[in-house]
Amino acid sequence: MITDHDVLVLGAGLAGMRAALEAARAGADVAIVTKVHPIRSHSSAAQGGINAAIAETDSWESHAFDTVKGSDYLADQDAVEAMTQEAPRDIIEFEHMGVIFFRGPDGKLGTRAFGGASQARTYFVGDITGQALLVTLYDQILKAGVKVYEEWFATALHMEEGACRGLVALEMVTGELHLLRSKAVIVGAGGLGRLYEPSTNALICTGDGYALAYRAGAPLMDMEMVQYHPTTLAGSGFLMTEAARGEGAYLLNSLNERFMKRYAPNKMELAARDVTSRAEATEIGEGRGIDGNVLLDLRHLGPDVILKKLPQIHEMALDYLGIDMVKEPVPVRPGMHYQMGGIKTDVEGATPVPGLYAAGEVACVSVHGGNRLGANSLLDTIVFGRRSGKVAAEYAKNTPASTGGEALLRNEQERLRELLARPYTGETNAGLRLELATMMDELVGLYRVEAGLREALDKLDGFRQRYETIAVGDKGRIFNQALTFSLELGHMLDCGETIIRSALIRTESRGAHTRSDFPERNDKEWLKHILLARRGEGEPELSYLPVTITRWQPEVRTY
Ligand SMILES: Cc1cc2nc3c(=O)[nH]c(=O)nc-3n(C[C@H](O)[C@H](O)[C@H](O)COP(=O)(O)OP(=O)(O)OC[C@H]3O[C@@H](n4cnc5c(N)ncnc54)[C@H](O)[C@@H]3O)c2cc1C
Repeated sequence: MITDHDVLVLGAGLAGMRAALEAARAGADVAIVTKVHPIRSHSSAAQGGINAAIAETDSWESHAFDTVKGSDYLADQDAVEAMTQEAPRDIIEFEHMGVIFFRGPDGKLGTRAFGGASQARTYFVGDITGQALLVTLYDQILKAGVKVYEEWFATALHMEEGACRGLVALEMVTGELHLLRSKAVIVGAGGLGRLYEPSTNALICTGDGYALAYRAGAPLMDMEMVQYHPTTLAGSGFLMTEAARGEGAYLLNSLNERFMKRYAPNKMELAARDVTSRAEATEIGEGRGIDGNVLLDLRHLGPDVILKKLPQIHEMALDYLGIDMVKEPVPVRPGMHYQMGGIKTDVEGATPVPGLYAAGEVACVSVHGGNRLGANSLLDTIVFGRRSGKVAAEYAKNTPASTGGEALLRNEQERLRELLARPYTGETNAGLRLELATMMDELVGLYRVEAGLREALDKLDGFRQRYETIAVGDKGRIFNQALTFSLELGHMLDCGETIIRSALIRTESRGAHTRSDFPERNDKEWLKHILLARRGEGEPELSYLPVTITRWQPEVRTY
């Protein structure tokens, strides 16, 4: 089937749906393609909240400075200014759409503290903030008449004379491939967390959007900046929201010490995530951990705060470890959580490829630079989702409809046929995926060093060769998840390669990127972004962009 729209949005998380809503408001015929039901997007897992300087005692400048400092001065300050200035109106708009944010006893919107922030500016709905925003937005896009291709898996972007004009997607329920043509495409396909094991991310976060855009020629920027969250549950790696520390929880080592006093004497448990994660790793590495973990202690907050404001994580600790956090501390460790880098866009969400836009975790505007502050990602999705939807709809108005694409459709049909026809070799995609993700955690995780990164690149090369021969277990057409799982693994390999290569190139330590062999930040050489773009089959093309500095010069970063 071939279908035409003005604007196609890849992804139905907060970024994708916010973009779709704005494009529809601008009069465009908009459709969303999503591999899961919109409400199952990873945005629904966001617990802690969303930042904005709304209170009279707060200012966007303060929010912007905290964000820039949190980014270890790698964020582009024009983008940070736009995001922090527009944050209040975007959040209030969500309230008007129907999100019931927490209100304090005075009836005003209430906040909680979050890491790296100089004051409490995180707005929230219990510990289900993402879900509350997502369901409300879903209502809004249905009301606006946005078409949703639900459980359709995008396999390639349709390029015509160097511009993006749609995509090919697999309708999972029938197994049929379709060409969806458009005048503009907005990629809001979310993160790549599952490239690491363990990760806080949903199993669907496999980096499809980065890989599809990269294969279509769009540069990926800041890919070395992978965030490890300080509090993921021992064993499963599930997230214990930063809101726990925002509400006052302690981090303890085996000596029952609040060890953060040695690393961030002012902010203690509420230092930025990179700082806190490294502090935990040091404690564990120096023998003051408990079976490779530290403890998150909420007991002093009392049952009222825990059960009313943090019910979800209370239940998770009980279900998965049998620990009641009202009575006992919970073992936690740093775990992969977020990708700061992504498809390079300008402040409007436009990529260097005509017709191609990106927003949300998959994009790199860059507002998070070397390290994202907690509760700034939901904000990023709605501000830049809205902005990209607006400009994509404008672009579509002046762009003729695409007439091609059949060749791409045939190529994709052939590619999938070949994948399904491969004979069984004894190796599985699941096995390879686990090997890849474990390797990324070990060699490209919290600490990196040249020899380890080179080993990772070699291993990735080997994984890629093996991937080319692996059979898809299920040969059927209907809802063949073995097939999509295999396509996802291909995307993860592309993402892994760009992360490793960028990490090798950046010979300094900044934000989440810690090179044990280059432990200092080096502003003289590295106050710049690394961009990788695919050009043919060889090594990716490397380029640099200066960091945009508007008013905050780099300083020593302490908390
Ligand atoms: C457990 C957890 C808790 C978090 N808590 C917070 C928080 O409290 N505050 C905060 O600011 N941030 C938080 N974050 C980060 C934040 O939630 C995410 O970065 C953000 O929600 C990403 O939104 P998105 O719209 O970019 O992508 P997602 O919500 O991940 O949506 C991606 C969409 O793309 C679609 N898609 C992907 N690939 C394809 C394909 N090949 N074909 C078709 N569709 C595809 C998916 O179906 C999905 O609809 C948290 C993250 C996690 C994992």
